[in-house]
Amino acid sequence: MTLVRVAILGGGYAGVRAVQEILRHDLDAEIVLVDRGHYHQVVTEMYKVAAGAEQPSGVQFPLRRLLPASPRLMMLQAEVQSLDPRERIVRTDRGTVPYKRLVLALGSAPEYYGVAGAEEHALTLRYLDSAVRVRRRLRSLRASGGGRVVIVGGGLTGVQLAGEIADHLAKDIHISIVQATPAILPEEDEELASYVERELVQHNIKIYRGEPASEVLPHSVKLTSGCEIPSDLTIWTGGVRANQIPQEAGLPCDGRGRVLVDAQLEVEGHPGVFAAGDIAHIPSPDGKHALPPTAQLAVQEGLQAGRNIVRVLRGDEPQALHARVLGTAAAIGDRHGIANIGRFRLTGRAGHAMHELALLRYLYGVGGLGLLRREAYLSWSRPPREELAAPPQHRAGSSA
Ligand SMILES: Cc1cc2nc3c(=O)[nH]c(=O)nc-3n(C[C@H](O)[C@H](O)[C@H](O)COP(=O)(O)OP(=O)(O)OC[C@H]3O[C@@H](n4cnc5c(N)ncnc54)[C@H](O)[C@@H]3O)c2cc1C
Repeated sequence: MTLVRVAILGGGYAGVRAVQEILRHDLDAEIVLVDRGHYHQVVTEMYKVAAGAEQPSGVQFPLRRLLPASPRLMMLQAEVQSLDPRERIVRTDRGTVPYKRLVLALGSAPEYYGVAGAEEHALTLRYLDSAVRVRRRLRSLRASGGGRVVIVGGGLTGVQLAGEIADHLAKDIHISIVQATPAILPEEDEELASYVERELVQHNIKIYRGEPASEVLPHSVKLTSGCEIPSDLTIWTGGVRANQIPQEAGLPCDGRGRVLVDAQLEVEGHPGVFAAGDIAHIPSPDGKHALPPTAQLAVQEGLQAGRNIVRVLRGDEPQALHARVLGTAAAIGDRHGIANIGRFRLTGRAGHAMHELALLRYLYGVGGLGLLRREAYLSWSRPPREELAAPPQHRAGSSA
């Protein structure tokens, strides 16, 4: 019996769901999951790690634990370097992986919009290693008596990071947010965005609205208005662009490098190659724009890509994705937050609780009760937040 080789590239929100879905079915298929790490990272919670409110172990989970033990599953920890869709091979730093079917789920990277010095002088929260670098810098600022932090980007990530830092390190750290558009959270309900702005201002966070950053220097951020904000630590949360591997492989992509797929998530002109998550340009139901790069959609897309792999292996036609946007929720520090779910607009503790519930829902979906129990144990045994955020001299030997 010859097994069909299915390669899944990326073990993030989309990739893990695709693998889990395929493994639920009894198929003559061998699955190879390729990721540069052997952990699944909960990217949406990186701001907590950065601010010292969460341990790194609380936002990354071994892929082996999330996926069922199966002789049909092989995991390859390797850096994907390129793709040859004609030869049907993936090149990695640990050799080539031939495939018959493919799911591209390599996610995205920070988008700097050509702002000079941003990549060199700003840190990001894209993956755990970068969030841990922010955490270390905040700690050393605190140890040296305080400092100024500039967050470039007033979207969900930027405001949550600012709120969390302000709640835990407020007396030593002065925070500014730079937002290119006239309001923070431009895609959010206006009332909820105003609520967040009031909360941030009450936390003494300075907001520069409608002023894009034009240059990031080692110790300041320049705005297009000519204003220059001194900065000891600049954090870039200004947006993402798709992973470039599909574009470099000559697959059809949009202007932002996202691979073009049809409603079934199949790459145009490449039957049997699917894409899901931030890497893909997936048409919205009305076909007018692309679905946004969010975790909740990446999960649904990964599941559908997995289902469609199963369908094509069985000789059936792939089915269209029916994406459901459930809403948004964000935490502003320990006690406040917003949620925009269906008809409901929640603020304060209720908004915060919805944000935490959304996380639990995700953890349950990806790792079942086992993962929830592990999280409950970790949060019960975690040191108090102040201790996590304390300067290094009080915590000799700490690594993050
Ligand atoms: C800081 C931050 C905060 C966010 N907050 C929210 C939020 O609050 N709510 C929300 O809905 N969305 C949020 N998002 C968006 C959300 O995280 C993404 O939409 C989601 O992660 C996309 O899932 P994905 O599977 O496409 O990519 P990822 O989850 O990023 O997974 C990609 C995987 O591919 C692997 N990989 C990448 N390149 C390579 C390579 N060359 N070789 C091998 N492996 C590779 C990575 O290790 C990773 O495991 C946030 C994003 C960021 C950056």
